[in-house]
Amino acid sequence: MAETATVQILPSDDKTNGWSRVLDPRTATPALVGDVRADWVVLGAGWAGMAAARRLAENRPDDSIILADAGEIGENASGRNSGFAIDLPHNVGSSLDELDGSHRFMALARAAVNYLETSVNEFDIACDWSKRGKYHASHSARGKGEVLEPFARELESLGEPFRWLDARELQSEIGTPYYHAAVYTPGCILMNPAALCRGLADNMPANVTLYENTPVAGLEQENGIRLTTPNGSIFAPRMILTTNGFAEQFSFFANQLIPIAAHASLTRCLTSDERAALGGEDDWGLTPANAIAGVTMRFTRDHRILIRQGFQYKPDFRVSDAERATARQNHVACFRERFPMLPDVTMEHTWTGIVCLSRNSAPGFGKIAPNVWTSVCQNAVGVTKGTFGGILAADLACERDNELIGFMESLGEPDVLPHKMLMKIGVPAKIAWDIWSNRHEK
Ligand SMILES: Cc1cc2nc3c(=O)[nH]c(=O)nc-3n(C[C@H](O)[C@H](O)[C@H](O)COP(=O)(O)OP(=O)(O)OC[C@H]3O[C@@H](n4cnc5c(N)ncnc54)[C@H](O)[C@@H]3O)c2cc1C
Repeated sequence: MAETATVQILPSDDKTNGWSRVLDPRTATPALVGDVRADWVVLGAGWAGMAAARRLAENRPDDSIILADAGEIGENASGRNSGFAIDLPHNVGSSLDELDGSHRFMALARAAVNYLETSVNEFDIACDWSKRGKYHASHSARGKGEVLEPFARELESLGEPFRWLDARELQSEIGTPYYHAAVYTPGCILMNPAALCRGLADNMPANVTLYENTPVAGLEQENGIRLTTPNGSIFAPRMILTTNGFAEQFSFFANQLIPIAAHASLTRCLTSDERAALGGEDDWGLTPANAIAGVTMRFTRDHRILIRQGFQYKPDFRVSDAERATARQNHVACFRERFPMLPDVTMEHTWTGIVCLSRNSAPGFGKIAPNVWTSVCQNAVGVTKGTFGGILAADLACERDNELIGFMESLGEPDVLPHKMLMKIGVPAKIAWDIWSNRHEK
């Protein structure tokens, strides 16, 4: 019997992504017109979809692969994030089970970083790829005691290198005196995510055909997969679904995924006088001790400061201009508090992307229907999780042995959520509570 799904909510591009606005314009590949067939279709061209398509092409060099996306490369969440390829779990935990889980996560994340780095080098992708590491910083002594000290102990248990910085030492490296302390870890990569996405897409293997601006409005499963688009259709015997939070639109992971809007801004480039006033080193990244209450920051290679702050529950995947204007005001206020030595620096770009969370932080991965595999729900760490999820979904679909598939499966699957009406009250209340109870880390 045919299984069908009609998509109710499509992705939309508000054309605000700062990371792509600072790049030269790119011409998208043509949208699909007509009816096409291939051996495989990969739906969704973020980190997960691009990794899956490339890996399928490597695994099956004689097969044809279609990679389709509703929008343009680098304009989705994958190109709108803060540009940290994170190699360590956020919360390590200290039990043997948790340490074991952390070792598995690090093996997966580092495989993804190596995979991306190989592509950056092979295709000479200009994305400011930087092995700079990152600072995990607390604004208060309380945040240091509650978050950084346990984090440092766990890094010790894992045998991972790190360095403590007090307020003065951190200021000498990043310029701002705002923070109380930080733990520096060296393994995180920083880059311009839109540039990396473009570079990956523009260097797909020859047996991958990419259709951009091709929103899929319907899915039918009968002796294969048929996807309908505004001007045509795609048929393939097998599909890898990499639409992240939109998976529910295709009747997968119903009531298991939480779409959250995350806002970010980039300043204009600092002048040389402003760089001197800021002090510190070029090119750094900082994550806050509390991700909900705090601010993620970067100083980019082209001397802009990134502020990532603010989350909103968005089951309709839409953010209004007024909400974005409020986010920008908040970012300006965060910037002024942290960088009083830069009074004239203005925000040039503010944008929003939709991240997909699960209640238990587990990914959506594996075989989800006959001839359908997936990697979705990257829990806001999609650069690495999406990349290894896509690679492993392709390996699973091709029955290629890879011990990391077992590691991935051990991460579990997204818990079922309460009814959507309860979510509409509960998630904003939870975000508000997290911000209030961690206000010392604002
Ligand atoms: C502001 C912000 C900061 C972040 N910072 C970081 C960070 O520093 N590091 C990190 O690792 N992660 C970060 N994240 C999270 C990260 O961006 C995501 O986890 C990641 O992009 C998920 O990748 P993905 O490939 O699974 O999904 P996506 O990037 O969401 O890609 C899914 C694709 O599916 C397509 N699609 C959906 N429905 C359809 C349809 N019907 N038809 C056709 N195509 C469709 C979409 O157009 C989209 O291109 C951040 C996110 C945001 C928004």
